[in-house]
Amino acid sequence: MTDLSIRSLAKAFGGVRAVNDVSFEVARGEFLAMIGPNGAGKSTCFNMINGQLRPDSGEIWFERANLAGLAPREIWRLGVGRTFQVAATFGSMTVVENVQMALISHAGETYRLWKPAASRYRARALELLEQVGMKDAADRASRELAYGDVKRVELAMALANDPRLLLMDEPTAGMAPRERNALIALVKRLVVEKGISVLFTEHSMDVVFAHADRIIVLARGRLIADGDARTIREHPKVQEVYFGTGKTFARVEPKPLEPQP
Ligand code: ADP
Ligand code: MG
Repeated sequence: MTDLSIRSLAKAFGGVRAVNDVSFEVARGEFLAMIGPNGAGKSTCFNMINGQLRPDSGEIWFERANLAGLAPREIWRLGVGRTFQVAATFGSMTVVENVQMALISHAGETYRLWKPAASRYRARALELLEQVGMKDAADRASRELAYGDVKRVELAMALANDPRLLLMDEPTAGMAPRERNALIALVKRLVVEKGISVLFTEHSMDVVFAHADRIIVLARGRLIADGDARTIREHPKVQEVYFGTGKTFARVEPKPLEPQP
């Protein structure tokens, strides 16, 4: 069953065709990676699906609604979740409070109403934190967390919305390779359990090939390949874009030092 169907999506910035006639589908429960060099149009695609950007043309069918041009809030209410960047977690609040905020927001209540009742949704928030392995850090200030742990909390916050489709644009940005692999493996395990569909971008090919059910490749705004890991690895156009020049890919993935075992 198809969950998300993107049809002839397009967006230009001035003369730059950031996304050019892109069509693809995400099946229910699928863990789909979108890859492509810097500037390929991945974020522009994500931002049209989540409502941050209005498409110039094309359709974005999710279940029975065309999301194209809807406001982020409406899209979110229809069951499309996304992970937010670090800045979105409030440093002065505790970890569990951040997740409670997400739950409150999902329930359509306001922060003002919530303030007197610190216990509101705490149990559910702790449950979500347990699922991402962060329950022990529940009462710590968010600002004290290590980077990888912030990413886990962001994931718990995204899950608070009970999404049926989760959009993750570079969820592992800034992480060391081992951490990346662990986070993506965690997401995959959770979404399989919950039956959520996921569209994500990830720079590490190793991580993508290890975990994605299917991979689509963008280059200069165009979708150039769609298939399983083997198809993508052997695809001539993909090899040309990534491995042919050797430029883009090596540059976006500087290898951070890893602790020795
Ligand atoms: P990716 O996420 O694959 O790195 P982006 O979607 O961010 O690629 O960018 C695609 C192209 O669109 C790039 O050429 C980029 O410079 C351009 N672009 C993206 N956002 C804007 C914007 N807000 N204004 C002007 N140009 C943009
Ligand atoms: Mg991007």
